[in-house]
Amino acid sequence: MKEVTIAGAGLTGTLLSILLAKQGYSVRLYERNKDPRTSFVKGGKSINLTLCKRGISALEMAGLGEAVQELWVPVYGRCLHLNESSLELQPYGNYGEALYSISRQDLNSLLLSAAQKTSGVSVEFGLKCMGYDLEKSSVLFIDENQNQIESPFATLIAADGVHSAIRYQMQRNHGFDYSQFYSKHVNKELSIPAELAKQYKLEKNHLHIWPRNEFMIIAFPNRDGSYTCTLQLPFEGNDISFKNLNTESELLHHFQKLFPDAIPLLPNLVEEFFKNPEIPMVTVRCSPWHIQDKVLLIGDAAHGIWPSYGQGANAGFEDCEVLCECMAKTPDDFLVSFAEFQERRIQNLNAIADLSENHFNEIRHHVADSKFLLRKKIERKMNQLFPSEYFSLYARVAFTKTPYKQAVDMESFYHGLIDELLKIPEIVLSPDSSESEKLIYKTYQKHLNKENYNIDKYLH
Ligand SMILES: Cc1cc2nc3c(=O)[nH]c(=O)nc-3n(C[C@H](O)[C@H](O)[C@H](O)COP(=O)(O)OP(=O)(O)OC[C@H]3O[C@@H](n4cnc5c(N)ncnc54)[C@H](O)[C@@H]3O)c2cc1C
Repeated sequence: MKEVTIAGAGLTGTLLSILLAKQGYSVRLYERNKDPRTSFVKGGKSINLTLCKRGISALEMAGLGEAVQELWVPVYGRCLHLNESSLELQPYGNYGEALYSISRQDLNSLLLSAAQKTSGVSVEFGLKCMGYDLEKSSVLFIDENQNQIESPFATLIAADGVHSAIRYQMQRNHGFDYSQFYSKHVNKELSIPAELAKQYKLEKNHLHIWPRNEFMIIAFPNRDGSYTCTLQLPFEGNDISFKNLNTESELLHHFQKLFPDAIPLLPNLVEEFFKNPEIPMVTVRCSPWHIQDKVLLIGDAAHGIWPSYGQGANAGFEDCEVLCECMAKTPDDFLVSFAEFQERRIQNLNAIADLSENHFNEIRHHVADSKFLLRKKIERKMNQLFPSEYFSLYARVAFTKTPYKQAVDMESFYHGLIDELLKIPEIVLSPDSSESEKLIYKTYQKHLNKENYNIDKYLH
């Protein structure tokens, strides 16, 4: 039985342990924190995640498709709180497309319980990985009492997150390229109790967004009717930034100006604002992701992305699915498996990293903009007329398994098409009229011919 050691029992590492054990590997999973099911994890991230098709597909492979449904809330669109009296509902699609809001802790607990029930997986908590020794094929841990523990490994997979200790050691290797890019904005968790959400009739099964250019609140629904929010503000260097809001009166003064309609929903605003940690967003790119057939990076350890597209965990889960395919293809040669894994994933992850940075600005600045809304309307019309062919870029990423890079490549064609449609006054005025529909068909055909675009190549 081949052995695999995984550092980091977060979302990616734990799912991977289950999938590899199902393929016949003996997996040892190590986590620096205590078991989150029985102890409070200090500084743990708790802002909800949204899962989408590509993440769910990997959970289904692990046999967790039904169990995860018990934990999530489907979210069918955005509800924008433009000002005190104006709401705008934006469905994600024409056919009930949804994201699934889930508590990070619930998801991690589900995965850990499943891993411990899977034959071939052992999990140890309270062991922090400090690095590896390739010559000795050993990995070094430190326990809560600062004792050092050396453990032999055959293959070491680093799923220890965006600040990976293993990647940090790899950075000193000749030829290892690395970059990181922090957003000027950071997140802070706030909460809306269920009774207030009910009293103020927050539209159910929606993400609620208060977009105010530089500042934004996003509220994710929980199963008990409450909402977990993320407040995004610049970290520093602005009148209104986490560093410059130091007193209750400063906070309430600015909140009253920016988010007056959100204040009644946030009874614990002051306490949560000054108590909860600031959570940064960082893009991490690096290459290569592996050292021969011995050490491999996966999940956030290989690729950190800003959370604006809600893809980090989904991408980590998709990594697990792809890695298992590669390892099943060449079970006796991990060098080939790891090289294929990197080849299949790295361009895709670079593409979603770029998209996530761009989308962050799009949500804050344009989501309520009339040109942006019109574009979305035409995109929805295109999807109605060509339901198996046309998806907006957002939909291709969130609701299909189209590889990220391909989703972006397709956009250069489709963006041009939507630009053309937006130049036709009839379509802009009444996209649903039969005349507009004829014009859309004609323009689409012309655009396909002009660009010599082979649509079949891209259909899934
Ligand atoms: C505010 C915010 C919102 C987000 N929203 C979404 C979303 O809606 N959808 C989505 O898909 N993604 C989202 N993400 C991204 C998502 O959280 C990450 O991509 C995902 O958690 C990555 O999983 P991972 O297992 O690779 O890393 P992590 O979740 O960071 O897990 C790493 C694990 O390794 C452990 N560890 C770390 N160092 C060591 C060590 N030295 N030794 C042993 N163990 C170690 C950690 O304790 C942790 O358990 C969001 C992120 C943020 C910050």
